[in-house]
Amino acid sequence: MRHFELGKTGMMISEVGFGGIPIIRLDTDAAVRVLRRAFERGITFYDTANAYRDSEAKIGQAFQGMRDKVVIATKTIRRDAASATEQLENSLRMLRTDYIDLFQLHQIAHETEWQAVTAPGGALEAVVKAKLAGKVRHIGVTSHSLEMAVKLVKTELFSTIQFPFNFIEPDASTELFPLARDLRVGILVMKPFAGGVIDNADIVFKFLRQFPYAVPIPGYDSEQSVDDVVARYSRPNIVTEHDLALMDEYRNKLGKAFCRRCEYCQPCPKEVKITMAMGYPIFVSRMGPKVAMEFARIPMESIPQCEECGKCIQHCPYDLPIPEILKRNYALYVKDREENPD
Ligand code: SF4
Ligand code: SF4
Repeated sequence: MRHFELGKTGMMISEVGFGGIPIIRLDTDAAVRVLRRAFERGITFYDTANAYRDSEAKIGQAFQGMRDKVVIATKTIRRDAASATEQLENSLRMLRTDYIDLFQLHQIAHETEWQAVTAPGGALEAVVKAKLAGKVRHIGVTSHSLEMAVKLVKTELFSTIQFPFNFIEPDASTELFPLARDLRVGILVMKPFAGGVIDNADIVFKFLRQFPYAVPIPGYDSEQSVDDVVARYSRPNIVTEHDLALMDEYRNKLGKAFCRRCEYCQPCPKEVKITMAMGYPIFVSRMGPKVAMEFARIPMESIPQCEECGKCIQHCPYDLPIPEILKRNYALYVKDREENPD
């Protein structure tokens, strides 16, 4: 496993990191085993969030007594100083540490969020204060908006930028990444599997390894999944014509307008289970209509509750026409139901 400096932070990290979401669904012992396996195999960068339920607590338990051997990143989605401080203190407690290597302001996508975090009494003020107090070593930022990410990097206020990047969403490599590299801002890659819509790990990592300065943070839910990723990084990266054709196939099938399951659109005031319902065509293509109908029955049956208020669209970082897509998916579900009676 190659290790290199994250931006100009002076922190050496592994070329692939550890995303802290999937360990939520493991019990603590299993999560600790997976985390330690990752460390044994050379992974030294761990990214989590206050919002990822007990992910921080599991990381804290796994690395107790060896804090200086790992680089831990966490984040807050809070916009004001008081609640960002509260989350930061909670992260320190959960992680069983007195400092966080990289504390990120999460999901700054819209101008209003940027204004809120930078206003007097905003979250950035609290994080800068925590840095001065030695509780935070470096400040980073994450975004799903390319335009905003470019703006954030240009401010030179942040040591890292975390952004979605995969072969379906490769846009960051044209402007954002070169800019970040020029300014020596560390690049962290979220959603290497496009939020779960790409199910071919082979081409996912073959694509990403062409950008060796950007550190993907995939999730792991077993020791085997750690071994698989580490094995991929121990081989030379050879991208064949066949791999490129496969990537094209995914691109053509999914297009740009697909849901990344980030869940920023929820909760819906009418209790429509948006994220699952958005994914129905993918479930059908993976499982076939009969299993998909059963699997997604509750979210699909919630779609008629939608009153098209538009609230979800305002929160979707990809500006997806959610009610329209839901209607289309519901029509597909009804057709599947008619064609596949019990
Ligand atoms: S448009 Fe429909 S799905 Fe979206 S928030 Fe409103 S009621 Fe919920
Ligand atoms: S519809 Fe948009 S906000 Fe909601 S989960 Fe999908 S990508 Fe995220």
